[in-house]
Amino acid sequence: MLYKYKKKKDKPLSDKAGVRVKKKPDYKKKLDEVFSKYIRLKYAMPNGMCKCISCGSFKHWKEIQNGHYMSRRYMSTRFDEDNCRPQCVACNIFNQGNAQMYRRGLIAQIGEQRVDLVEYKAKNTSKHYTYFEYKELFKYYSVLVDKLRKEKGI
Ligand SMILES: [Zn+2]
Repeated sequence: MLYKYKKKKDKPLSDKAGVRVKKKPDYKKKLDEVFSKYIRLKYAMPNGMCKCISCGSFKHWKEIQNGHYMSRRYMSTRFDEDNCRPQCVACNIFNQGNAQMYRRGLIAQIGEQRVDLVEYKAKNTSKHYTYFEYKELFKYYSVLVDKLRKEKGI
């Protein structure tokens, strides 16, 4: 009979020292989530329905997404309210953002100059958020989300 000796896994240094290192919460992810909620609630009607910026279909705020006009990869406009509107899954995911119709819808709401500015900002400026900024923005939008839900009763 063969006996296999399990090799003991090395413990992380922190465990060896008897100190557990608590992982910092991912505030970037948390901010994405709360900011998305904020955008959807901001544009939700009192019955909880949102209109897709690109195709105009109505979806419940919990079933619609926060669509970015300029891609989320542009950090300078990722949390810019002029760059974000409720957008249905079909347009946001399967139609690559339905950008042309998004642009048209956005111009109707905020005007061409502000849309141009969003495009410029996304492509020509950069933004690096610190951990502190993520955390503070997360707190800020959490308060606004609670306020909107109360106000609209949704
Ligand atoms: Zn749509």
